[in-house]
Amino acid sequence: MKIFVLVIVIIFAVIFLLIFAFQKGVIWQIFHPQKVLYLTFDDGPQENLTRKILDILRQEDVKATFFCVGDCARRHPELLQAIRNEGHAIGNHTMHHLKGWKTPYKTYIADVEEAEQWLNSRFFRPPYGKISLRQYLQLKKNYQIIFWTAISYDWDRQLSPQQCLHKVEAAARRGGIVVFHDNPKAEKNMLEALPRFIRMAKDKGMTFKTFEDR
Ligand SMILES: [Zn+2]
Repeated sequence: MKIFVLVIVIIFAVIFLLIFAFQKGVIWQIFHPQKVLYLTFDDGPQENLTRKILDILRQEDVKATFFCVGDCARRHPELLQAIRNEGHAIGNHTMHHLKGWKTPYKTYIADVEEAEQWLNSRFFRPPYGKISLRQYLQLKKNYQIIFWTAISYDWDRQLSPQQCLHKVEAAARRGGIVVFHDNPKAEKNMLEALPRFIRMAKDKGMTFKTFEDR
């Protein structure tokens, strides 16, 4: 019986340590002394959408980080350049938007490296937020792995722009990391929720930075 209890305790301790090691290296929010928050856009660049986002950000004089899919960047290098030219930062979101838990280790790492040829970034965000411990341990050697404080769920067509805004409102605070999508599925909700989020955050005295200049 004692041995049984001991084994259970050891198993829990190992699980706890693994989770701790994982959480410690992954960034969920930034501890920033000022009222700074971080806007991020996943899945671009997209032919008919990226420039609309850039227009909104320019009008609001806000900088953001774009976690780009390598294959989209390969097809639209001019959009990737436009993002950079406007002073925004680029992150790696794999070459083919792979789900880490369902992709063999070597395939996943090779896909991230392939994307790197187009993106040239120090930041990585796993698609779907799903990454195995082994994939994570390898990638963290070369990247800061950035998760999020709140996601807008802007791709969900069951939600209204107001509901998307509501999901990220609470993250408009010091060091918050907010996710919108540069993805046609999210266009309708995102284009309406984004400017409202920015104005709401500004009303609270927040400013915006990219991960490059944090
Ligand atoms: Zn994604």
